[in-house]
Amino acid sequence: MTRLSPGAVIGILGGGQLGRMLAGAASQLGFDVHVFCPEADSPAARVAMKHWQADYDDDRALTGFAEACDVITLEFENIPVSAVEAIAATGTPLHPGAKSLAVSQDRADEKAFLRAIGITTADYREINAEADLGPALAALGGKGVLKTRRDGYDGKGQAWLKDPADIAAGWDRVGQAPSVLEAAIAFDCEISVIVARSSSGETASWAPPRNVHEDGILARSIVPAGVDHAVETEARRQAVALVDALDHVGVLALEFFVMADGRLIANEFAPRVHNSGHWTPEACQTGQFEQHIRAIAGWKLGDTHRLFDAEMTNLIGEAGLLDPAMLSPNETLTLYGKREARPGRKMGHITTRLGPRKD
Ligand code: ADP
Ligand code: MG
Repeated sequence: MTRLSPGAVIGILGGGQLGRMLAGAASQLGFDVHVFCPEADSPAARVAMKHWQADYDDDRALTGFAEACDVITLEFENIPVSAVEAIAATGTPLHPGAKSLAVSQDRADEKAFLRAIGITTADYREINAEADLGPALAALGGKGVLKTRRDGYDGKGQAWLKDPADIAAGWDRVGQAPSVLEAAIAFDCEISVIVARSSSGETASWAPPRNVHEDGILARSIVPAGVDHAVETEARRQAVALVDALDHVGVLALEFFVMADGRLIANEFAPRVHNSGHWTPEACQTGQFEQHIRAIAGWKLGDTHRLFDAEMTNLIGEAGLLDPAMLSPNETLTLYGKREARPGRKMGHITTRLGPRKD
């Protein structure tokens, strides 16, 4: 791919906070940004040069958007295949490509793909009808998490099954949609690897953070993660193997469960910048947003070296209405510009530099 020069136009599909932070990094590197999303007044569109407001199945609007951009990327992976095709027809490159999107959009395909390239996942069964659940639950040891194959996020579209008596309610909870039942993993902690791959195949990962979830939503990410160095190295190796296998261009996040003996079980991946990488701009030489823009623009990747020990705290719901005067000098506040605080809504985050990197 040719290297884009400053002044080129980067298109972002999706109008949320990830798009807003990508737009900030793109503008720092001298690019103009167009945002395509159906919502009016979205966080990303408000910092973009142009907002294309249309649905993701509006091929005419997508074509106009694609023709106005030099490269297109996305801030959420659930864009319809038809939108990918409409963009491809214009000849404007889309990164990441169709393979990263297709695999990550379906939890069953995602697990099968990970296993096929030698990455361990939780044992699971595909569920197409309520009648599949009894045998699957028994086969997985009587306890598991039912997750819709498509469209789940922040713990939505999931139900824990701990007893055959939970089956009917769980099946309703996932909307009776095609799902997977995953074995319950008694993990010691969760980590994620944020990794980037350039258009020439160069890769770079960051030190994995330890991630703490509350009510199915990421609450905090902490680096260093406090796991053995060998575990971190292996997790980073697997994430690089994944982006290579997908021929991925851009940033990707691979989430893992870490067992007490150091074994890694991959949970899921997102083919984009990720909430658990929000500390990277403040703690590392190059942050995930800048890196993603570099990758899709055909630039060389930046150095991912970590300079600080850090902790990222999500501001969820009313926590996003904090008084900035209360921040400590070593805390950096990022707010997403959402118009109102709702329960469970990600409003912003704080990255705390705990001190110079010690490990
Ligand atoms: P989401 O798309 O909502 O992030 P995840 O599959 O990552 O969905 O699940 C959210 C969180 O729920 C995980 O980070 C983990 O804390 C917990 N979880 C998910 N699957 C399992 C499992 N099989 N065993 C134990 N905990 C799980
Ligand atoms: Mg997750």
